[in-house]
Amino acid sequence: MTSPVADSTSTHKHPPESLPYSHSSKAPVPSVQPDRPDKPEEACGVFGLYAPESEVAAMTYFGLFALQHRGQESAGIATFDDSRIHLYKDMGLVSQVFNEDILAKLPGYMAIGHTRYSTTGSSKIANAQPLQIATKRGDFALAHNGNLVNAAELRAELREQGVSFETTIDSEAIALALGLEVNAGYDWIEAASRAFKRCSGAFSLVVGTPVGLIGARDPNGVRPLVIGRLPQTGRYVLSSETCGLDIVGAEYVRDVQPGELVIINESGLESKMWADEPNKKMCVFEMIYFARPDSLFNNETLYSYRKRLGRQLAAESKVEADIVIGVPDSGIPAAIGFSEASGITYAEGLIKNRYVGRTFIQPTQAMRETGIRMKLNPLKDVLDGRRVIIVDDSIVRGTTSRKIVKALRDAGAKEVHMRISSPPVTHPCFYGLDTDNQDQLIAAKLSTEAIAKQIGVDTLGYLSEAGMLEVTQDDVDGFCTACFSGKYPIPVPQLLQRSKLMLEEVASHRVGAITPVLEAPMEATEREPLPV
Ligand code: SF4
Repeated sequence: MTSPVADSTSTHKHPPESLPYSHSSKAPVPSVQPDRPDKPEEACGVFGLYAPESEVAAMTYFGLFALQHRGQESAGIATFDDSRIHLYKDMGLVSQVFNEDILAKLPGYMAIGHTRYSTTGSSKIANAQPLQIATKRGDFALAHNGNLVNAAELRAELREQGVSFETTIDSEAIALALGLEVNAGYDWIEAASRAFKRCSGAFSLVVGTPVGLIGARDPNGVRPLVIGRLPQTGRYVLSSETCGLDIVGAEYVRDVQPGELVIINESGLESKMWADEPNKKMCVFEMIYFARPDSLFNNETLYSYRKRLGRQLAAESKVEADIVIGVPDSGIPAAIGFSEASGITYAEGLIKNRYVGRTFIQPTQAMRETGIRMKLNPLKDVLDGRRVIIVDDSIVRGTTSRKIVKALRDAGAKEVHMRISSPPVTHPCFYGLDTDNQDQLIAAKLSTEAIAKQIGVDTLGYLSEAGMLEVTQDDVDGFCTACFSGKYPIPVPQLLQRSKLMLEEVASHRVGAITPVLEAPMEATEREPLPV
């Protein structure tokens, strides 16, 4: 079926008869989520490969398909052949944006791709990625996962250097900073290093340049980026997660290190540390919830880590019950671990409608009132008369938890004990995950007892921060835990803090009103050439 947003027909940069289309002429059809997940929502997934022997567009399509959980609002692929960049991007899921005809018109020896959930800037086609920039040494295309905390300052600096912006996303500032350094005469690696040094925050990047595919991570390595290799050809692949490697048959080689830059081309892979003081602070929430359970971290699947979280949770937060169930899908591994450690039988108590994603049809009011049933349906036979432990990976606003608990009770559960395989989320994320503002985070406002009452459980228990870190079986200082602890490893400018740290502001009376930092959305315009 053709997506309502997939038949883009215009371009602002290329002749209309040929791909790529940089922008859709049609206004995107607004999508609705019947029940917005009560979880932080991921920013983006990135993918790239240098593989002249392969159909790079099709492989990038499948890479993005595997990374779809990281962003569902827009998708884009840029391919590189000898003469030009071919770019196609549009609003929608990867499978809605691309079809065989479009992929066939994206030739090349190298490709990068991006799937996006909007954390900065509004959700519209002008903000979709990859971004294409012209320089005096040829065009390049860039795709970014993460969030800069100095985006406003960097944009202001770049404007002073004479550049103009056509999107509202921070990724464009990184791209334009790189373009300026190239135009200033630096080679691509030096230019990239110099541009990245102007950026503060989280950035995992894939950049297609005339000299090859660049992959890079910020000095803290907040967002993941892994390197894989195609066994038949030895060519390299970059992906946000290893699930993107698996789908194209690439073998996991290693992570791009925090502060590292790799360049991949005909000569193979070269590495350079661009950051002076790398200091790993990987997002622990990636491991708890965001990344796919089949993706690898430290050479084991996150499924195994999440099971260990459940075992630790059982040790820390015992309760007598008849069965343990998990909230599908992300709470299941921890529920299994909880069951193993506690000896309480694991059961499936909630069945997920696997085909619920975004819908273009609004649910009726009556359907909304039935709560979560569009997504999750309780198994009455399993739950009736039982004392139930329900395990979830996190509680953000608490709205979904309340609906789930009600559904369990409606299905006859005698007691409901909720166990959460992470600590209370008390602080917003500034590094590329869309957590709510602090005043919407239930644990920022209420005690655990008060949350238990509000969501209607008999008992509620969270995992400790120490327990969460201990079971990583890694250096516990190597993680960002700011949304649980408020300790932000990358300093967040005060103006940006004010946009999300509502409660802290109210408490300290520092400001009377909250000022949004990001600029108002802009309409896309023809990009002006970078100053040379
Ligand atoms: S604040 Fe939380 S979600 Fe954001 S990077 Fe840190 S651990 Fe991850």
